[in-house]
Amino acid sequence: MTHPPVSSPSRRRALSAMCACTGTAAAAPLFGSGAMKMLAAGATMAGVALPAASAEIKTTLTPDQALDALKQGNRLFLADRLPAEPNRRDRRLAIAKSQAPFAVLVSCSDSRVPPEALFGRGLGDLFIIRVAGNSISQEGLGSIEYAVAELGVPLVVVMGHERCGAVGAALSVVKDHTIFPGAIGDMVQPILPAAISTRDKEGDWLDNAVRQHVVNVVEKLKISGRLIEDPIESGKLKIVGARYDLDDGSVDFFHA
Ligand SMILES: [Zn+2]
Repeated sequence: MTHPPVSSPSRRRALSAMCACTGTAAAAPLFGSGAMKMLAAGATMAGVALPAASAEIKTTLTPDQALDALKQGNRLFLADRLPAEPNRRDRRLAIAKSQAPFAVLVSCSDSRVPPEALFGRGLGDLFIIRVAGNSISQEGLGSIEYAVAELGVPLVVVMGHERCGAVGAALSVVKDHTIFPGAIGDMVQPILPAAISTRDKEGDWLDNAVRQHVVNVVEKLKISGRLIEDPIESGKLKIVGARYDLDDGSVDFFHA
């Protein structure tokens, strides 16, 4: 992939602080420290050729239809009625030359939450960004922008899940000032605002933080730049937040 030139400063958009109530951790970037450069670059992309397109044919689904397809897939997953062979040879050959995914999934790396399985989907259906704690780095944001702007994906789902270990780690930082080795602390950092802002909230702290982090990522993504904002304004893109329940297998699309 080649990168477009950086735009003029006047085109740049600042990422506003997500939660005024999060204290020092409010500075923790959801999109990583280099997000400004990426957003600045994105501001010029409307007039600059994007990386070579692989999708000559894009999905015809609307945002709502794409969301319905995911909900229907999850219902089949819950009912143990998923297609036996979603990744058949003929499907592989049919999409070998181009892709037309209908949804972007931002989900946790947790081995128990594979998006294709939870939504009964296979090859070529979902464009997935997975990182522990379902945060979005600079690279993740660029991936989403590419999927939306170039592949024509009409729906982005940010999905947290029950008993998320990454969110749990953020809670331990807030509660016990835990210091993690290596780069684990960097992985936890974007989750800290959600952990802090839900600490005194009624109910289960971990689950409240899981949902709040999803909301934070969704809302931040909605103001991340023209490549995302323009299709939202024209009705071609929706971004929703969801929570997967490990116990019953259901996905609750609780935030839009
Ligand atoms: Zn997780």
